[in-house]
Amino acid sequence: MIPVNVPLITEADIESVVDVLRQGWISGEAPIVAEFEHAFAVAHGQTFGVCVPNGSLALDLVFSALEIGPGDEIIMPSFTIISCLSEILRRGATPVFVDSELSTWNMDVSKLEEAITPQTVAILTVHTYGLPVDMKPVMSLAEKHCIPIIEDAAEAHGLRYEDLPCGSMGFASTFSFYANKNVTTGEGGIILTSDEVFAERLRYLRNLTFSQDQRFVHDEIGWNLRFTAIQAALGMSQLSRLESTIRERRKIASQYRDKLSEIEGVRMAPDHVRYATNDYWVVGVLLSSERFPRAAEVAAELASKGVQTRPFFFPLHKQPVYFKSPVFREYSNPCSEILGNYGLYLPNGLGSTQDQIDQAVEISYGVLAS
Ligand SMILES: *Cc1c(COP(=O)(O)O)cnc(C)c1O
Repeated sequence: MIPVNVPLITEADIESVVDVLRQGWISGEAPIVAEFEHAFAVAHGQTFGVCVPNGSLALDLVFSALEIGPGDEIIMPSFTIISCLSEILRRGATPVFVDSELSTWNMDVSKLEEAITPQTVAILTVHTYGLPVDMKPVMSLAEKHCIPIIEDAAEAHGLRYEDLPCGSMGFASTFSFYANKNVTTGEGGIILTSDEVFAERLRYLRNLTFSQDQRFVHDEIGWNLRFTAIQAALGMSQLSRLESTIRERRKIASQYRDKLSEIEGVRMAPDHVRYATNDYWVVGVLLSSERFPRAAEVAAELASKGVQTRPFFFPLHKQPVYFKSPVFREYSNPCSEILGNYGLYLPNGLGSTQDQIDQAVEISYGVLAS
């Protein structure tokens, strides 16, 4: 089976980790953690970085630090991962779901203004699968209504909106360093912000709310969400070759584009849009319901021929956990549902061999074109 993702771990990555192990300072207090936070923040146009154990906890910690609660509304796409919703529901706040576009697979920002109410406390944008959200309209609405933007940039390391790095446009942004992301530390995540007070608050909550004067006396409940020096060492090495990671992702995607883009009923995300170049974090295909009534059968056929796939996100407004929540509302987000039902992504691991990628492209073509 050709896996949908295999991370590329280079000799330099290994040396970087071994160095830290040899030095022996491996906890979250080691200087390399702060160095990585700083380097990652600067590379993404923000001032402060706060590393946490994963991208889901990065979102949780942001919403917790913002102290959202019952009655507060957070505008967000429906077509995204559960991590975006978890802390909102845990804290009893209300998600307000906006549909996505069938062309870019990102939140349809033309539907944003009608979602804003006096209860709106944040807009969560999620750069999806390698293309950024069209941020200009989001930023101008956010400014007009004085609403902070939170950018989930877990899929957008090194990606740009016009000349602005993804992750630089929100009051805070979150990234994941999971094994399939463009910078990985195995598991991991980071929050970026340029607000010093907010960064301090995130650090305080991350570190068991220890205080300066009386270390073991606590005013609030926090967490231990520290990141290890071992992760930071891998992150440093991965970050240093982010440009080549993106170049390689684009190279793999162009192989798929050459073969798949002419097939009727198979749609890939655009290579370019007005404001960005797709970096193809994943190589997704959206199947037409007429040609492929059941995407799961296509996935099963690909699997039987040795090509692993993953389905696209299942929309949040259709999640059983959301139906059960006290803040449930009925939504019609037809595009998110189409994406959830008819989208798959194909193998593009940078740790795969060229031969495996060639085969995955050929087999995908064979199955989708027949
Ligand atoms: C991967 C991902 C996350 C979650 O990150 P983890 O590190 O896996 O917890 C959150 N949001 C998006 C958009 C993601 O792709």
